[in-house]
Amino acid sequence: MVNYLCHVCDTTFSVDITRYKCECGSPLNLTQSEIYFPIEEIKNRDNNLWRYREALPIANESSIVSLNEGMTPLIPASSSACDHRLKLDFVFPTGSYKDRGASILLSKAREIGIREVVEDSSGNAGAAIAAYSAKADIDCTIYCPSTTSAGKLTQISMHGAKLKLIEGSRAHTTQAVLQATGTTFYASHNWNPFFLEGTKTLAFEITEQLGWKAPDGVICPVGFGSIYLGLYIGFKQLYDQKIIKKIPRLLGVQSEACCPIYQTYHYNQPKITKMALRHETLAEGIISELPVRSKMIMEAMNTTDGAFTIVSEENIKDGIKILAKQGIYVEPTSAVIVKAFDHFTQTKIIRGNDLIVSVLTGSGLKATDKLTKMLST
Ligand SMILES: [Zn+2]
Repeated sequence: MVNYLCHVCDTTFSVDITRYKCECGSPLNLTQSEIYFPIEEIKNRDNNLWRYREALPIANESSIVSLNEGMTPLIPASSSACDHRLKLDFVFPTGSYKDRGASILLSKAREIGIREVVEDSSGNAGAAIAAYSAKADIDCTIYCPSTTSAGKLTQISMHGAKLKLIEGSRAHTTQAVLQATGTTFYASHNWNPFFLEGTKTLAFEITEQLGWKAPDGVICPVGFGSIYLGLYIGFKQLYDQKIIKKIPRLLGVQSEACCPIYQTYHYNQPKITKMALRHETLAEGIISELPVRSKMIMEAMNTTDGAFTIVSEENIKDGIKILAKQGIYVEPTSAVIVKAFDHFTQTKIIRGNDLIVSVLTGSGLKATDKLTKMLST
């Protein structure tokens, strides 16, 4: 039986409640449930993330809310620096990897009888929660910053969710939703640990697609850390089950405009401290002045010998163009990985015989307004 567990004060809570954090204010994790990977059976299952059924904490088949998401393509990148692959994790029903978390989180909500959810988002998580709420026939309200890309806002509304636009920073949006939560289920991709149970399947897929072998490193954009932490949880479970021999180095990328985790890494500080947004950035999906799960991000970075880098606005624009010329159309937040790969190669964090996977997180179609503006300047 899975329970919530506070890893700061060790208090446990039943998951059958609308609680989203511990009494001590910390985010909640899950107690380890029984998991295993029947590899031969998995090979013959449907090509979606529910193929790892025994590793996912949903008890009842009838609770599953799925749009056949997952098993996104893993393709070779054009690189001479090392064996570099791209995980096209925007090939999802809503156009971003957030469907991984939304599928598991809404399945859990349905399992415990939730009828209404609220969520705050820079756009993609909101679209995913709205879509899976629609599929589950659960009422949904999404809070977004007023600067969110128009495409994402339209998508949220189209799924029938109520949309609340909040002026000010991303943090103001979170403050607004917290005032509204009350007794309503907070389907937060940052606070609710069931979301990470979905994003961890990214690690399973990468490993399976490489022949049940872990890469040497994985590069991903990091704001609140839902991919970074999902990768950590997923690879750790595979390691604990002796499926892989090592946990890959987790290599995070932040925008120079807001990079509290990079600062901590670069200056070798013991904990992540708040950093105000310096200026607007194209990488709207990774603006996080202080990630909710800071302590766990530090643990993931330290345990995996991870590293962080930052990219400038020019780096992001270059990344978008370089990928587009290879036929890959992603939103600016995803494109950070292109120059990040170069930075990690230059600093010899990536070496010549490494196998590296970079995660592309959101479709370019999500940010048509911002990309159109970029083309005309
Ligand atoms: Zn606690």
